[in-house]
Parts: sequence; structure tokens; C-alpha cells
Amino acid sequence: MSAQIINGKDLAQELRLEMKEEVVKLKDTGVNPNLTVILVGDNPASRSYVKGKEKASAQVGIQSEVIELSSSVTEEKLLEIIHKLNEDPSVHGILVQLPLPDHIHEQHIIEAISPTKDVDGFHPINIGRMMTGQDTFLPCTPFGIITMLKSKSIPIAGKHVVIIGRSNIVGKPVGQLLLNENATVTHCHSRTSNLKEYTTKADILIVAIGKPNIIDKEYLKANAVVIDVGINRLDNGSLTGDVDFDSAASKASYITPVPKGVGPMTIAMLLHNTIKAAKGLT
Ligand code: NDP
Repeated sequence: MSAQIINGKDLAQELRLEMKEEVVKLKDTGVNPNLTVILVGDNPASRSYVKGKEKASAQVGIQSEVIELSSSVTEEKLLEIIHKLNEDPSVHGILVQLPLPDHIHEQHIIEAISPTKDVDGFHPINIGRMMTGQDTFLPCTPFGIITMLKSKSIPIAGKHVVIIGRSNIVGKPVGQLLLNENATVTHCHSRTSNLKEYTTKADILIVAIGKPNIIDKEYLKANAVVIDVGINRLDNGSLTGDVDFDSAASKASYITPVPKGVGPMTIAMLLHNTIKAAKGLT
């Protein structure tokens, strides 16, 4: 293996220690940061993500509340709960864990959350602010990726970044953030023909597909930086990324592992956004 590992677990831990001090200072001024998470239904992955968010919040002193709702809850009821939380001054961040049951229109829910409490950074107003380079809540996974690159002083400006994936929560916003950082950005997706033609030209390759181990060294330019966003659970219960780690690590200069990569950084950025909301910075 030649690549250096960018360990998101360790970096997230460092950030949490810094944030813990910030929270103490905030509490001294009478502000008690609060993150309220709404969990609908019984999806085991969602439940485990929410547990991770609760645990990380507690580590930095952010108060977290979880509102658990049955999968049969109506969209109307969910909207009513969000409106109440929007009005509650003791709640600084609101997060509705996705995905939602099919009968609830996700976009209606995302747009109901006050942009000033939208710590996931999914509200169209915050997306628009991000696109126009204004200060806002940045979506947590893309923000975590940028923070990881910066933690290793990996140059972004002028570099060619190729992103595989164009979802609203990862692929598109990470491309925008990197463009804001003056990278040259190429987006690939399931309809891209001859994927390798693009990926082998990438200085930084970001993989957000959701299919285990499908990207190996054949897709890489020598010494590329590889960021693996994928989280895939294998039949044996273990977690793996979209990148074949051993193969890619033999050719890359830097690589993120799964687990202990982008996942913990996503949660760290959620805490960052909650503190920002508590400070009233948006
Ligand atoms: P989506 O399913 O919404 O998007 C997947 C993207 O990959 C789509 O744009 C799709 O193309 C593209 N794609 C699918 N198959 C191929 C292929 N064979 N070749 C090229 N492109 C392909 O997923 P998300 O963006 O929500 O998540 C991606 C992965 O990241 C998942 O494993 C998810 O669990 C993980 N994730 C991890 C997070 C973390 O904190 N580490 C946070 C969020 C997600 P098209 O648009 O054409 O369908």
C-alpha cells in the first residue's frame, strides 16, 4: 500500500474536542444548543444513524432530542410537528432522518424546516446560498469531505475533481463546494459512457455510488486522492465502501477508508452546523 489514509474517525474526534469547548462558552452565555431529530418508522440503518448523532451530540454537550414517529404518520402530522419546532426558541437544529415512507413527500418536509434551523443544509434556500457562495449551513457529507481534504492540505484549486454520483445530498453539492474552491469539476453517473475515461484523469476522485467495491485501481490516475463516500452492508454484516480499498490504496496518494472515513465526518459537520445555528449565525 502506498496511499496515506485520511482517517475521518480521528479527525472527527479532534473536531469534537474543539466543539466541546465552543459549547461550554455558548452555555456560559445562556445558550444551550439543541438538536431535535425526527425518526419516522423502523428502518434499522436510520435508527443506527440517529443513535450515532445522539451519541456524538452528547460528546460535545449538545442536547439532542429524538422524536420517534410510526411509519404510518401522515405528512400533515409531520408538518405540524416541524412547524412547532420551527417556533420553539429552545430548538436550534431540526433534522428529519431520511428516507421517509413512500406516502410522505420528502421535498415537502425538507422545505417545511426553517432555513435557520436546517442543519442538514438541504433546504432550497440554503442550497441556493451555497451555490452563490454565501455563508450558510453546508450539507454535512460534502462539508465533511472538504474538511478532510483541507486537513491534509491537499490542493483543490486548479485540480480536476471527478465525482461519481449526482444525488442531491452528496454528488451535486460536493461538486458545487469544490467548484467554489476553484476546482475543475466533472460529474459522472449511471448514464456516463466510458466511466474510466473520466476517472483516470482525476486528481481527486470522489465516489458516491452505493455499490460495494466497484472502483479499483484501474479507474485511477497514479497518485490520485480517493474519497470513498459509499456505505454498503455486506451479507456477513460488515461495512464496505464503493472503492476496493486495497487495490486503490496501491495506486492512490491519499484514500479514505470505510468505516472510519467520511461517515464520522458527516456527523461532526452536523454538530458544527447545530452550534452555528445556536449562535444564530444564519
Ligand atoms: P444515490 O443512490 O442517491 O445516488 C447514487 C449515484 O450513483 C447516482 O447519481 C447514480 O446515477 C450513480 N450510480 C449508480 N450506479 C452507478 C454506476 N454503476 N456507475 C456510475 N454511477 C452510478 O446515493 P447517495 O448519493 O445518497 O449515496 C451514495 C452512497 O453514499 C451510498 O452508499 C450511501 O449509503 C452513502 N452515503 C454515505 C454518507 C456518509 O456519511 N458517508 C452520507 C450519505 C450517503 P444516476 O443519478 O444516473 O442514477
